[in-house]
Amino acid sequence: MKRKILYIMSDTRSGSTLLQNILSTGAQMTTVGELFHLDSFLNKGHWGRTWNWQCTCGEPFESCEFWGKILGKLRDMGVERVEATEVQRKNAKGLSYLSSCEYRPGEANDEIIRLLEQIYTAVFELTGASVIVDSSKDPTQGLALYEKLGYDVKIIYLKRDIRAVTMSKHKWFRKLKERKPGRYKIMLLSKLYDLRCTQALERINESDKIFIRYEDLARRPQAVIDHICDSFQLHALQVPDYMVIERDHAVGGTPNRQGKRKIEYDDSWKKKSASRPIFRLLGSVIDKI
Ligand SMILES: [Zn+2]
Repeated sequence: MKRKILYIMSDTRSGSTLLQNILSTGAQMTTVGELFHLDSFLNKGHWGRTWNWQCTCGEPFESCEFWGKILGKLRDMGVERVEATEVQRKNAKGLSYLSSCEYRPGEANDEIIRLLEQIYTAVFELTGASVIVDSSKDPTQGLALYEKLGYDVKIIYLKRDIRAVTMSKHKWFRKLKERKPGRYKIMLLSKLYDLRCTQALERINESDKIFIRYEDLARRPQAVIDHICDSFQLHALQVPDYMVIERDHAVGGTPNRQGKRKIEYDDSWKKKSASRPIFRLLGSVIDKI
């Protein structure tokens, strides 16, 4: 089978770790997690602090049985240090940052894509898999990979109800003890993010993309996974009852990722927002725009 990259595009708190974890159980599949943050995990940057910059298996990347070998392979390819794995957005500082999914043209991003291609090649060689699941989520990264990478890239757009995403992010900010933005601000920023995803998807051919709702994935995972496999001509796979994150060697992922968790639909946001009818109504309206 021709080697493929399955790229999950979504907002945070939308079930991308769940989808990645299910897909990675397929015989021909393997996952790298949020590859665009690999540089930060390796160089102890902004992303990954919460996990102490460790792989999902619980080991530091250099001593992880998977990434240790990948880094060795990269050194064989002449890559001594993984400097940057996140594609740069165009006009990242201006107002257009809010609404544009464009990546910056030029040598810097070309170099990043070249490095990502070397990483994917190393993963294909090491695992023997023919499909790599990359759950970086970011629309700019996905678009750049789709248009520039030497591998066949398929995009899975995973969308969750914006009210559930907002409530979940709100709770997460509280956990981080960071100054937390209000629910409406979180919702607005989530909407702008969705618009960037939509914009990126317009540039992806119909046969190379698929739209999945988190609510369907959590309620009827087997049907959704069958649909993905059919659409992208992948071998069918049996969805497990539980999600076990530690079996993957992934970058990042959902914060409470440790332990065995039953795959089920989480609608706790409905209860939590029961006393907020305006929030619920407004969310339902702007999610459909
Ligand atoms: Zn690992």
